[in-house]
Amino acid sequence: MTSVIETRYFPIDPLAPDPGAIEECGRIIREGGLVAFPTETVYGLGANALEEGACRRIFQAKGRPQDNPLIIHVASPDDLEVLTTDLPPQAAKCIQAFWPGPLTLVLPKAPRVPAVVSAGLNTVALRMPDHPAALALIRAAGVPVAAPSANLSGRPSPTLGSHVMEDLAGRVEAVLDAGPCRVGVESTVLDLTEALPVILRPGGITREELTGVLGQVAVDPGLQDESLAPRSPGVKYRHYAPKGKLVPVSGPEEKVQARILREIRRGREQGLRVAVLCSAESAPVYAGSGAEYVEILGSKREPWTVAATLYRALRECDQRNIELILAETFARSGMGAAVMNRLEKAAGHHVILLT
Ligand code: AMP
Ligand code: MG
Repeated sequence: MTSVIETRYFPIDPLAPDPGAIEECGRIIREGGLVAFPTETVYGLGANALEEGACRRIFQAKGRPQDNPLIIHVASPDDLEVLTTDLPPQAAKCIQAFWPGPLTLVLPKAPRVPAVVSAGLNTVALRMPDHPAALALIRAAGVPVAAPSANLSGRPSPTLGSHVMEDLAGRVEAVLDAGPCRVGVESTVLDLTEALPVILRPGGITREELTGVLGQVAVDPGLQDESLAPRSPGVKYRHYAPKGKLVPVSGPEEKVQARILREIRRGREQGLRVAVLCSAESAPVYAGSGAEYVEILGSKREPWTVAATLYRALRECDQRNIELILAETFARSGMGAAVMNRLEKAAGHHVILLT
């Protein structure tokens, strides 16, 4: 058990973060402390990436398994030199096209990076976030910042400052709150250590966008096939999960709606508190269904709106003590790939598939 720390809370303007708050939080990181901060994907829990002790504290504060490596955040591509031994041409192309942005590059690890950051791997995950407060914080710290998502391990990632406070108040030195995160799901993790780039985790940059810049891009088969070990260690954990049982229902629209309505009735007969997470298009179907809580995740035609809402909706279910969550599913193209990956993982891969 970690001892209780007084957590300083700094509400800031996302576009023009208060320089005093940023300076203070930069100092905390430089001196070995932990600061949760906003990024365009989700909130991160940052520490000095070059200090082993500081990075160990991230694992303690989150209750994170030791074999799950951290992403190092930089404020400029110029900061990569101490972190990796090789920047292949494909990395340069990705940096040019997508940084700052929700793309993490896996590259060979430089000796200066403590083993705890990469969980003992000889590779390291690197990203430049697209958020003024994150970039200002990294610059103020004057060191690269190792940061996983700022949630307790196993809980949905935080997309609001209040989510971070729920999970980490008393466990970290400071929280910078700049309101909602724009993307809402984590970065895409792309392995560039071999000739063919491989997506290890779908996220804020889509496979289609990567293909447009790199040509052929593979997807780690371990992401879909449970019998294979995924190549990104963190991907194997059941996380992003709410407390209630989450059941995604997939198939033709009308069948999905009918099945969800039936499951709502069954759940209510068992005395359960039931929620529905649905598309804007089918929301009217669930009016008067008896569900305790109906959340419109977004439009089927705009999967990025679904991504931006998903984690907040899962946490809202926890707040309302929902015991059964029925979720519609979304097409796997574009941002839909990341949405479906998170939804399936949050559900422990148990999906009702209708044909
Ligand atoms: P989080 O930021 O909490 O979503 O966690 C970081 C993610 O990056 C995890 O899924 C890790 O498995 C992944 N990651 C970090 N470093 C590496 C690496 N060297 N190779 C593959 N995946 C990595
Ligand atoms: Mg995480």
